[in-house]
Amino acid sequence: METITINFDGFSVKTRKGKTVLETALENGIYLPHLCFHPELKPFGGCRLCVVEINGRVTISCMTPAEEGMEIITESVVLTQIRKTATELMIINHHADCLSCPRDTKCELQKISHYLGIDEERINKLRKITRDLPLDDSNPFFIRDHNRCVLCGICIRTCEEIQGANAIDFTFRGFNTLVGTFADKPIAQSRCESCGECVVRCPVGALYSKNDKVFSREVKTVCPYCGVGCGIYLGVRGREVVSVRGDGENPSNKGRLCVKGRYGFEFINSPERIKKPLLRKGDTLEEATWDEALNYVARKLESYKSDEVAFFTSAKLTNEEAYLIQKFARGIIKTNHIDHCARLCHAPSVAGLATAFGSGAMTNTIDEIADAECIFVIGSNTTDAHPVIGSRVREAVRKGAKLIVADPLKIKLVENAHCWLNMKPGSDVALIMGMARVIVDEGLEDADFIRERTENFENFVKSLAYFDLDKVETLTGVSKEKIKEAARIYATNKPSTILYSMGITQHTHGTDNVLALANLVLLTGNIGKPSSGLNPLRGQNNVQGACDMGNLPNVYPGYQKVADPVIREKFSTAWGVELNETPGLTMTEVLEAISAGKIKALYLIGADPAVNVACSRVVHEALSRAELVIVQDIFFNESSKYAQVILPASSFAEKEGTFTNTERRVQRTRKAINHVGDSLSDSEIIIHLAKRMNASIFDYVNNEEIMKEISTLVPSYGGISYQRLEENGIQWPCPSPEHPGTPYLHKDKFLTPSGKARFTPLDYRPPAEEADSDFPFILTTKRSLYHYHAAMTRKVKGLNQLMKEELLEINPLDALRLEINDGDYVKIISRRGDIVVKVKVTGISPVGIVSMTFHFADTPTNMLTNLALDPVSKTPETKVTAVRIKKLKDGETLIGSVC
Ligand code: SF4
Repeated sequence: METITINFDGFSVKTRKGKTVLETALENGIYLPHLCFHPELKPFGGCRLCVVEINGRVTISCMTPAEEGMEIITESVVLTQIRKTATELMIINHHADCLSCPRDTKCELQKISHYLGIDEERINKLRKITRDLPLDDSNPFFIRDHNRCVLCGICIRTCEEIQGANAIDFTFRGFNTLVGTFADKPIAQSRCESCGECVVRCPVGALYSKNDKVFSREVKTVCPYCGVGCGIYLGVRGREVVSVRGDGENPSNKGRLCVKGRYGFEFINSPERIKKPLLRKGDTLEEATWDEALNYVARKLESYKSDEVAFFTSAKLTNEEAYLIQKFARGIIKTNHIDHCARLCHAPSVAGLATAFGSGAMTNTIDEIADAECIFVIGSNTTDAHPVIGSRVREAVRKGAKLIVADPLKIKLVENAHCWLNMKPGSDVALIMGMARVIVDEGLEDADFIRERTENFENFVKSLAYFDLDKVETLTGVSKEKIKEAARIYATNKPSTILYSMGITQHTHGTDNVLALANLVLLTGNIGKPSSGLNPLRGQNNVQGACDMGNLPNVYPGYQKVADPVIREKFSTAWGVELNETPGLTMTEVLEAISAGKIKALYLIGADPAVNVACSRVVHEALSRAELVIVQDIFFNESSKYAQVILPASSFAEKEGTFTNTERRVQRTRKAINHVGDSLSDSEIIIHLAKRMNASIFDYVNNEEIMKEISTLVPSYGGISYQRLEENGIQWPCPSPEHPGTPYLHKDKFLTPSGKARFTPLDYRPPAEEADSDFPFILTTKRSLYHYHAAMTRKVKGLNQLMKEELLEINPLDALRLEINDGDYVKIISRRGDIVVKVKVTGISPVGIVSMTFHFADTPTNMLTNLALDPVSKTPETKVTAVRIKKLKDGETLIGSVC
């Protein structure tokens, strides 16, 4: 960009063309008073404090582009008078109680009045009335104080430009102008998403956090909730985490956070943390020493044959922990029965993307979304499940990108969409292949890309014959015209990116859904370039890392196959042990094997299958049949009821290591406080256990040494070291210490044996269950913005206040027909069980479709869901369950049961 030179008070500085005068001044360390300017927001020109003189004219510097040779005067009698008058007018109806204001010493108004030398006596004379409006403390995390508001509009613009929620605006007019919500409701009853972005940008004391304390030190780390992997700073005071702020330098979130990441840290020091090891004595669990508990576990594990032991791990473990645990399972116990919650979410992505492209990960970066011309969001309630990515999608739309949303529910992003494909649950293959058919029929495909970089195109085109648009319209419930419109938008606005999540994967045809999307991407050449690609938004914070580290039954770390003798030899030599050559069972198969008496011991590390796996009845039966259940966790959970031993683990804030986020970025997580109670990190527990089992292969000095071992065995982590991760992480593949990491995949060739991507011909298969006269509704599961599963977020009072119980969302017409009102309790019944749940009547659910989250153990949604599996990935179909709904009569029990 062109560099220009301008002069401030005769002092010349350089800037890039396109910058404003105010930006140039601030960049060069020249202070100009300002209240309504924020570097991340569009200029507003409202406060009139940043005035300067240019060629004898007074002008607002935040609205004036810098031009070559400009002569700018920043101080004069006229300018001072304008600034003083504007400031005095703000102060005369502002509370004069700075010392009790939460923003004292950090307040911009305070700073400006000091700078201008505002005379207190004169203010007192001018002061007529001081506003005395009630505080809005309806939000559990922050307070709105109209009395301290200076109407700079930063909160309004933040809500629109950063978060895209548009929850607030200027209300009333003239002297009575306020920042308010639609219909002037309390903020908690508005569209506010409680992200707190407005709170952190408020320059005065009009918005402030309720719970943050001043910290004595800060620790740079990563959010423990979702796969976005937002960079955060934990504020620590004594042994407690007392605040969180977004890391502005982190490329994944650029300082943005959602409500969970910013305010959901109370769980760390929760009194409900498990603080001591527990051993079962009869019906009770009694406190034990670490020696007793570890000796018990070691002796019990030694008493089983290797294939009688299975491990369910967690996507919340660090990479180092996930690596150590699979090494323990494979190297010491000699079992490959190790799996984790990716089985329930993105196993179809791993399988489908590896088939099509040779690598089962997000192809592009989060930051590139903002520059896409078209974004196709399918099966992802992005603003709720991956909120910071949701805000990037809204940002791209504001910049002009076209947005296509495919979802049976009217999710929030539909408001921003150019085209909403409200298809029937489970009809994804038909919809996507229908779009592909339009692209081929209308000649919109990228012929050069197909010829040069793909194979199997002809067979794929033949399979499109089945998907004529009349049939697709019937199968999906989406009109032909809309399907054509979506196909044209996707194919002609390049670069186009696809974001998807569990709405695609949690089906009996989940792998087919992923392959269908891969076909669409290849057809249009939307891959191997910035802002394009096929991007599975991974669920938990380290689900990518847990997969990378081989917490899967068929692969060692780095997706290297257990069944491959050369690979097995590599790991056997590195670890100095013999290894089991038979791939293990998946999570759902392990549960079957426990019920069949084949697997006898189950080690749960951060896993709660009793709540998270479909058809909970089967899971409870399996857990009750296991001879040994070991639970290693930070809180008690539903599965711990079956445990013989419970080992207290530490939270993310208490340990060192790395997480790999959804865009393959390996990032450092750092210890902020000491272990709570007698808890230990998962790696410390595994190392202690291994030593009790006489294993000499677990002699590590620290976590860094574990990462060194990972980098020697996992080619895509070959160049990753703690030293290189110090700043902002590295995206794999990073094969060598000199390699900078890889923002987007498949630039020159695909990771398949031929180097070409592969089209897959597909058939349509209906979901395992469809609505019928006995079960006339389809239940589809989803996530809430306020909870991440339940273990951690349910320990945060404010998040419980925002969503305290499960809600069955139902369309108003269905509610009318069933004579159900908002807030009623109903029994919802599937072929596998029933639960009682509160109703929310909402147009988000279309007629015939109801939805629930699965975050609440007391209303276990998975009691209803179907254990029918995708044949390739063995992922259960939790997105489509046929149910009926029964209104509860007066006095009828509120307790659900199993049919
Ligand atoms: Fe944490 Fe995800 Fe929210 Fe970011 S978007 S703050 S990673 S929960």
